[in-house]
Amino acid sequence: MAKRIIAFVLIAYVPVMLVMFSGCEEQQSYTARITGVENILHHSSGGSSVTYDKPIAKAKAKARPVYKKTTPKKPKYSSASWTPNRNIEKNWDAIVIHHSATQKGSMSSIDRYHRNNNGWAGVGYNFVIGNGSGSPAGKVETTFRWRQQRTGAHCKTDYTNWANRNAIGICLVGNFETARPNYKQMNSLVDLVQFLSRRYNISVNRIYGHNDTPKHSTTTACPGRKFPMTYLKASI
Ligand SMILES: [Zn+2]
Repeated sequence: MAKRIIAFVLIAYVPVMLVMFSGCEEQQSYTARITGVENILHHSSGGSSVTYDKPIAKAKAKARPVYKKTTPKKPKYSSASWTPNRNIEKNWDAIVIHHSATQKGSMSSIDRYHRNNNGWAGVGYNFVIGNGSGSPAGKVETTFRWRQQRTGAHCKTDYTNWANRNAIGICLVGNFETARPNYKQMNSLVDLVQFLSRRYNISVNRIYGHNDTPKHSTTTACPGRKFPMTYLKASI
């Protein structure tokens, strides 16, 4: 009798136990399996979902370094000459961008021209950035006006002469009515303008092209309709 009872118990309960046990197993793997199915469905529900998922994963991976402390990129042409002698340093409050309106040139060729043709003390700008023709592409040349913190001769205004007195004149060699500045020039310009705007606390809305400088009194296309002012301002 006892044997029959044991046999009955085994027959009746072992399958139940097995089902319960495997049910638990299923429950344990339930979430995982559904996730797997969902993933499969998600990825197989069209090419767009696959391409949609991948960029998100990549974007997250790329976004991480933003939160890391990074050392600033060292400008290629930065030099001690960008920092004026503190004893004579002025408090500049705007930046005016120019083009040379010539295909080639350098600080010395512009200096010659301004002396000989305009009768000035020398190059009218504070900085000149070469385009690879007449001076290396992206080379930033610091003029005597910057070194001596002298009033510039680059942007005529009303009687106040505010732009020459208070705005830093940067000239890029090239004619941007016909072509855009090259990549190396723009990189150097961004580096220089970043340096100057931080040093003198010059906001983006105080960065002008010659022809949109407030109260400028010369009719000019400078710095040319192809000069990427929007890009420059967005890069500062
Ligand atoms: Zn100009």
